Amino acid sequence: MAAEKATALVLRTADWSDTSRIATLWTREFGKVRVLAKGGRRLKSNFESALDLLTVCSIVLLRKSSGSLDLLTEARVVRRFPRLRSDLAALYAGYYIAELLADWTEDYDPHPSLFDEALATLETLGTCLPGQQQPVTDLRLARFELVLLRELGYSPVLETCAVCQTPVDGQGLSFSPAAGGVVCSRCVGRFRDRKPVTPQTWQALRALHASGEAWQRTWGVAARKELRQLLGHYVTYLLGHRPRLLPYLGSGSS
Ligand SMILES: [Zn+2]
Repeated sequence: MAAEKATALVLRTADWSDTSRIATLWTREFGKVRVLAKGGRRLKSNFESALDLLTVCSIVLLRKSSGSLDLLTEARVVRRFPRLRSDLAALYAGYYIAELLADWTEDYDPHPSLFDEALATLETLGTCLPGQQQPVTDLRLARFELVLLRELGYSPVLETCAVCQTPVDGQGLSFSPAAGGVVCSRCVGRFRDRKPVTPQTWQALRALHASGEAWQRTWGVAARKELRQLLGHYVTYLLGHRPRLLPYLGSGSS
């Protein structure tokens, strides 16, 4: 039984007994871990506020052999995201991130760059760019989803038709989750899950996929809505069920 230190984002907690809680944590060092926090429900315990959802904490855990829960022995808050408390769309986006990380990653499968991306995204949700009125939440979240897809090996094919590999120029395209990306007009007939993609949405997808800065650009409202629907469609297909928080996300999911 080895004591390990890690930096962790709290994804989920559940009561375990009168005094203990189980927490699902996304750590930079080890990926997802599930821990038992003894005394985690007691007022003024070491864990009281550190185990709030979407809090970043510095933890010490005792790793158990496979099959049993690790034991959380220390948890200290190092960062919170106060904007999530004042902006409902940002809060839902944050919960959606927690849901995807909790349901889609494996225990002890670390992805440090995805950890960093999650924290950077949570920091930005609910903010407006200088001179703009509308928060960038949907675009920032789309960038996070594309990084998550890349880390898990599901990057959508965007530069060629996912079936015949012919380079595409944005005209006459559809997106098919089953095909794993955009599909040209000649190949699309066999995919019943296809949705048409406008050239603007295709450009936005490519830019958000390629660059960590593209979410700061001004994209049209129609493209933002279509992007939200397309990513929701793709994530639902890959995950095998619709994420619970998906209907609560803004920009076109309604
Ligand atoms: Zn094709």
